[in-house]
Amino acid sequence: MVFKKVEGFDNLEIDYISNFSGGYISRNRNLMEQLELNNLTQLILEKSVFGTPIFKLGSGGNKLLILSGIHGNELPAQIANVKLLNHLIGADLFTTLYFIPFAAPKSTMNNERTFNSMDLNRSAHIKNSLSNLIIQKIEELHIDFVGDFHSTARNSNPGFESIFSSKSPSPESFLIANFISKDVGSRIISFDYAGSSYKGAVEDVCNLKGIPAITAEVLCPFANVGKGTVEKSYMQMESFLNYFGI
Ligand SMILES: [Zn+2]
Repeated sequence: MVFKKVEGFDNLEIDYISNFSGGYISRNRNLMEQLELNNLTQLILEKSVFGTPIFKLGSGGNKLLILSGIHGNELPAQIANVKLLNHLIGADLFTTLYFIPFAAPKSTMNNERTFNSMDLNRSAHIKNSLSNLIIQKIEELHIDFVGDFHSTARNSNPGFESIFSSKSPSPESFLIANFISKDVGSRIISFDYAGSSYKGAVEDVCNLKGIPAITAEVLCPFANVGKGTVEKSYMQMESFLNYFGI
């Protein structure tokens, strides 16, 4: 599969991660209540029926990925990602931005954490799992840095607004997390070595491959959109881009 220009949007291109993960996101009422519908957002939803789309804006410079929806019931980041794509579509970019707003549209449709009973943030190391296909695409596109955006509920893990990172083998993971933490106030969580406490997180698998990555969490009940949570997730995304001068 290769990127194709999206008709009606001059500088937007689309490719697919998979064609077995699609879903009718418009069936997720809690998400739809917070999503501003316009032509671009409508298009993203339509493309998500057929699988997991990845969008591209700009060219040259660093290649960055903004990822969300690895857990389908974590809604603020998915909404924020769509907003960010809407915000940047007209901008002059001197960098290459990739967006995966809905990693598993079927899971988002069902407002559930897992995809076909698989936790995508514990299976990115398993060959050809959906999150592993995202990793494969990251490698194929030579993406330089990855921001993976989530939410966490009280009394879950970690249960507070935070940025996950590790110091080895990709030390820039920690530097990016530190920057975002200072910028927006999210607490930093840093491991000495990626993937040492559990296996298969997208962030860890990237860091282990030498692609610096962070996981950002906002505090929000699962399957819902808490007040101010979309804005907070959006701030984390903007701060991730700010680290690279965007
Ligand atoms: Zn999550």
